[in-house]
Amino acid sequence: MTDKRRISFSPPDITQAEIDEVVDSLKSGWITTGPKTKRFERELEAFTTSDRVATFSSATAALECALRALGVGPGDEVITSAYTYTASCSVICHVGATPVLCDTARGSYEMDYDALPSLVTERTRAVIPVDVAGRMVDYDRLYAALDRARDLWRPASDLQSAFDRVVVLADAAHSLGAVRCGMPSGTAADFTAFSFHAVKNLTTAEGGALAWRAGAFDSDALYDQLMLMSLHGQTKDALSKTRAGAWEYDIAFPGWKCNMTDVQAALGLAQLHRYPELLARRRVLVERYEHALESLGIELDVLRHYGEGFASSGHLMLVRLLDKSRAFRDGLIERMAEDGIATNVHYKPLPLLSAYRDLGFCIEDFPNALAQFENEITLPLHTLLSDDDVDRVAASLGRAYAALEAKGAS
Ligand SMILES: *Cc1c(COP(=O)(O)O)cnc(C)c1O
Repeated sequence: MTDKRRISFSPPDITQAEIDEVVDSLKSGWITTGPKTKRFERELEAFTTSDRVATFSSATAALECALRALGVGPGDEVITSAYTYTASCSVICHVGATPVLCDTARGSYEMDYDALPSLVTERTRAVIPVDVAGRMVDYDRLYAALDRARDLWRPASDLQSAFDRVVVLADAAHSLGAVRCGMPSGTAADFTAFSFHAVKNLTTAEGGALAWRAGAFDSDALYDQLMLMSLHGQTKDALSKTRAGAWEYDIAFPGWKCNMTDVQAALGLAQLHRYPELLARRRVLVERYEHALESLGIELDVLRHYGEGFASSGHLMLVRLLDKSRAFRDGLIERMAEDGIATNVHYKPLPLLSAYRDLGFCIEDFPNALAQFENEITLPLHTLLSDDDVDRVAASLGRAYAALEAKGAS
């Protein structure tokens, strides 16, 4: 008789520490952007060792404001991966620029760095790589690929002029806390966007941040500009306006509304204080999965999270069922669901989605991303899992796999 207790995919890990910090905000008389938001930004700077961090209501807002601060708009092109969540690409559309999608390399979740230079034109302003599953992409190969296309670089704004090649804006929604070649996520790309959505490693319910490294531009001025963008272009935030007699303000430009609140930042601060511990627990779980899956003796490609010179944030457990079809993968998901185990697929390549098909993208042009997707299954990985849960998920996968094979599926 198998245990049918449900194993959910990615529930938030909330302790009394988070509850106390949020209650403290609620009782303080200040619930929107204020002291806790600023403290969260400073602590994220220290944690990532980046030059500055600006918080937003989501990673999507962080990416979009970064593109706007860079002056990216109509007539410009921005390259991102075909193998990602819609947000990496929708932000390019939001600012009126043209998205250019790069296929993955064969057997990889990362863009094909060899193909990348041929996608760069004189209109290319930025590339948005995606640290899928929390594993940072190969930034060395990415920069080398962009260096090969340096002749085409035509900076078209002050901030773009601070760079001597296409700007790298990482979608690091998954990779807070990851390290590659001694560089923490937040310092490898020119700009790095993190997500604190409810299913992410560190959550503020909804929220995001943009981190950047120091460059040939004024970091303070950029920070101020991003804060203006996130709050109507208003020259004083609500907190400074409430000081007695300080009502006067200006609107510098018709801005957006995507600021982080102190209630969210309170949740984030408590999560960040626990985060080293949460990352360590994720590592234990990933390594347990690796052993349990290996001992099933079936043909799996399990994404490596830890290795020579890199440690991921252990965000998603990506597994590919080698030489199996999409139908086999879907059957496996159904059978594991019958065991009470929630799994997922990361990602359906963008050209398979109506929005991007309607923009003219055709999946036939992205064969590697398609192959990567068709037999991929994402297993639950979160800090509420017990060691036994991991063994149960692996055993369920093994049973489902054998049952499908016995039925003649492939
Ligand atoms: C979650 C996610 C986003 C969006 O984050 P939000 O904070 O919800 O805007 C972007 N990219 C990837 C890869 C994600 O997984």
